Amino acid sequence: MPFTAFHCAPVWLIFLARPKRFDWIALSVGATLPDILEPLMIFIFYRHYGEVRVWTHSLLGAATIVLIGALLVSVFVVPRILAYLRDKYKDKRFHTFAKIDILEHRGSILVIIYSALIGTISHVTLDLFYHASNPIFHPYGSTAILFFDDLMISKIITTIVTGGIFCYLAYRFWWKT
Ligand SMILES: [Zn+2]
Repeated sequence: MPFTAFHCAPVWLIFLARPKRFDWIALSVGATLPDILEPLMIFIFYRHYGEVRVWTHSLLGAATIVLIGALLVSVFVVPRILAYLRDKYKDKRFHTFAKIDILEHRGSILVIIYSALIGTISHVTLDLFYHASNPIFHPYGSTAILFFDDLMISKIITTIVTGGIFCYLAYRFWWKT
């Protein structure tokens, strides 16, 4: 994805369908963390892009390392930042989505775990349409799903669809809050 934030589009749709069943913060963190962890892990562990990518962009990584990272960030980091911004700026946009207070409306730990997992898996799945090779089945190989068997067309379609949905949802359910 050219914009990591576009990965929020599918999980926000899931949240809007059943807000009581999911945790918005965990869904959003899970959906974006693989791309954020990638440069961080390269920097911290001095590893090559390919070595790190097999862990950040595989189902195995999505259910282990990235999931653990998403849980830690969803429980300990993002809520504190949002609560700080809410108290400092008194702006509903720091803690509201679709008229739901995402800081008050937190699921049980089970809800947070499966929301984060749905987020991480949705990320690696969506990337199948955007990269020529994805280590999704690591250690059992890589694959891609390209529209019209063409990488450029697939990138354009994926970006327009996810970008369009993201911008619409962000405007309608967050900006206009
Ligand atoms: Zn990615």
